Amino acid sequence: MTPKNEPLVRTIKERCKACYTCVRGCPAKAIRISGGQAEVIKERCISCANCVLMCSRGAKETKQSIEAVRALLKSGAPVAAALAPSFPVEFGGIDPLRFAGILKALGFKYVCEVAFGADMVSFQYRKLLNENPGKKYISTACPAVVSFVEKYHPALVPNLAPIVSPMVAEARVIKELYGKDVRVVFIGPCVAKKGESDRHHADLDESITFTELRAMCEADGVDRNTALDSQFDPPYPAKGVLYPMGGGLLNSAELEEDLLSGRFLSAEGLEQFPEVLKNLEHGDIDADFIDLLCCSGCIMGPGISVKTSKHAREAALRRYARKSYFSIRLSDWEASVKRFRSLDYSASFQAEDQRMQLPAGDALQAVLAKMGKTNPEDELNCGACGYPTCVEHAVAIIRGIAESEMCLPYTIERLKTTAEELTTSYNQLAKTKQALMQSEKLASMGQLAAGVAHELNNPLGVVLLYSHLLAEQCEKDSRVFSDAKMITEQADRCKKIVGGLLNFARKNKPFFRQTSLERLVDNYFKTAAVPAGVAFTLDRSGEDMQAEMDPDQIIQVLTNLVTNAIEAMNSAGALTIKTFAEGESVCFSVSDSGCGIKAGNLKKIFEPFFTTKQIGKGTGLGLAVSYGIIKVHRGNITVASNADPAAGPTGTTFTVRLPRVATAAGAIKMKSEPAAK
Ligand code: SF4
Ligand code: SF4
Repeated sequence: MTPKNEPLVRTIKERCKACYTCVRGCPAKAIRISGGQAEVIKERCISCANCVLMCSRGAKETKQSIEAVRALLKSGAPVAAALAPSFPVEFGGIDPLRFAGILKALGFKYVCEVAFGADMVSFQYRKLLNENPGKKYISTACPAVVSFVEKYHPALVPNLAPIVSPMVAEARVIKELYGKDVRVVFIGPCVAKKGESDRHHADLDESITFTELRAMCEADGVDRNTALDSQFDPPYPAKGVLYPMGGGLLNSAELEEDLLSGRFLSAEGLEQFPEVLKNLEHGDIDADFIDLLCCSGCIMGPGISVKTSKHAREAALRRYARKSYFSIRLSDWEASVKRFRSLDYSASFQAEDQRMQLPAGDALQAVLAKMGKTNPEDELNCGACGYPTCVEHAVAIIRGIAESEMCLPYTIERLKTTAEELTTSYNQLAKTKQALMQSEKLASMGQLAAGVAHELNNPLGVVLLYSHLLAEQCEKDSRVFSDAKMITEQADRCKKIVGGLLNFARKNKPFFRQTSLERLVDNYFKTAAVPAGVAFTLDRSGEDMQAEMDPDQIIQVLTNLVTNAIEAMNSAGALTIKTFAEGESVCFSVSDSGCGIKAGNLKKIFEPFFTTKQIGKGTGLGLAVSYGIIKVHRGNITVASNADPAAGPTGTTFTVRLPRVATAAGAIKMKSEPAAK
């Protein structure tokens, strides 16, 4: 026997690509998506195997019972094949006598048609309806429908007709006729029947599909050429052979659908049967008896391997049904019916409620909001997630069987945001990389400059000392005096350049004091000479602008920037100074409406001796020195400029950011801000 608690349908994880097709096609929503993988939830599954048919990746498989049947056939016990009435659909190309011979060649002692069990069940239905007028019943021939009612319409369980399926009825007939020791194997188109045989293990030993039977024949080398003709074993059926078609039960039980009275109704297929049950539960259906099949008739069952159309299958079944029906002797059939009428065909069913209740409180709204559905119009109900509505998807998420990533619009939106974030990060990274390269370049220039400045400092000192001594020893109106003066002035100039280089190389130690940047800037402009043609604006944010800094050095930076700005405007234009706080930094910016800096020059402006001014109009050290000072303060200085009038107003803005707390290595901290700076 195969293990009874083994799931009938399961996912082959390696093949699953989480396309949600199986979720969409599952009438019971019995598929959990977790970590992007589909997994069948045994308790919720009704074993219809629709997901097996739908999965184009072949990622769903059903329980295989071939080995268990082989073991049974080899056990020495007499084994009967209970052959489902849909067999002509799968094996229509084989003469029925030869087909019976094939099954016997495999080792089955008896080959009986379940269609006779269907005949017996039909009597039970007629009796039930006659004895219970006005009560509504649902047929119980399809185990998938029965399971669906038990799990998802527990209120309708009392409406399930308390009658066994044709398969179980036939098994009981076989045991009655051929002995209790006969083992019974159901062979049919159905996966759900495997579960039903497990439930009725006293009547049935195993259940295999037609597809499995084909595989067995192939493996054992049994086919129409090797097998001999044989006979099906009695009892022989009448109209029960029609059961696998939609409405077959009604026809067989002579409960004809009457459009006027609407007493009997039949519906089949995954779309229809759940809808009919919903309507029945809501009281929208008047019929006394509803014959439901999960597939579009068992002729479309998942255990059939041929790929013909529904109409072709119906035609194949009808051909066999006509031949079989007109070849039976009515008196024999009536005698069989009479003989087995008193067997027990009763069945009982139990609710196994698996419905997902709507969550209480705001949980549902929270999940919908997470997927960007804050208004009813955001609920597209597009079905891409596999659930018919956004609300059902949200409930499934709350119950832990679905993921929000299954919502396509939400996932697309998230991907868009991620792509935007990645672009922003990439751009920032590119900027940082460029800034890093620039600062590395400036750092190595600084090292070179510091070395040169250090080497020049001593000889310059000597030149200055001796030029002063020489000047002191000469007559003031002598030629030598004026030459010595000239040497002193030029040596002083050189000294300043060397000082600038040392500042750039960050060799001059800053003296940090707690200083208000705003007051520092205010005081600077009290004495700074701004040309009359320059419209000057000082824009203070009014925030706390206290920070540890070397005020002399910061004034030097401000002076350099303001001087450059005025020169860039040819002493006419708009000069704007802003002070503001930004997180743990105090900042100021100097903007001018001048000619702007060409894009190609922007990278070089902090390099020592780089200048766009005319020869003799500047040393090219102002910005390099400013850069060095700001770096020694562990701050940063940035520039934004437009030199192209076609791209908008020209001009340049330098922005300086200084940390509130000085962290520079070797920083000397003074007590407080001097009174007036
Ligand atoms: S067998 Fe049917 S009920 Fe079970 S998971 Fe597959 S589609 Fe859903
Ligand atoms: S319709 Fe037939 S084949 Fe399909 S699940 Fe029901 S009993 Fe099985």
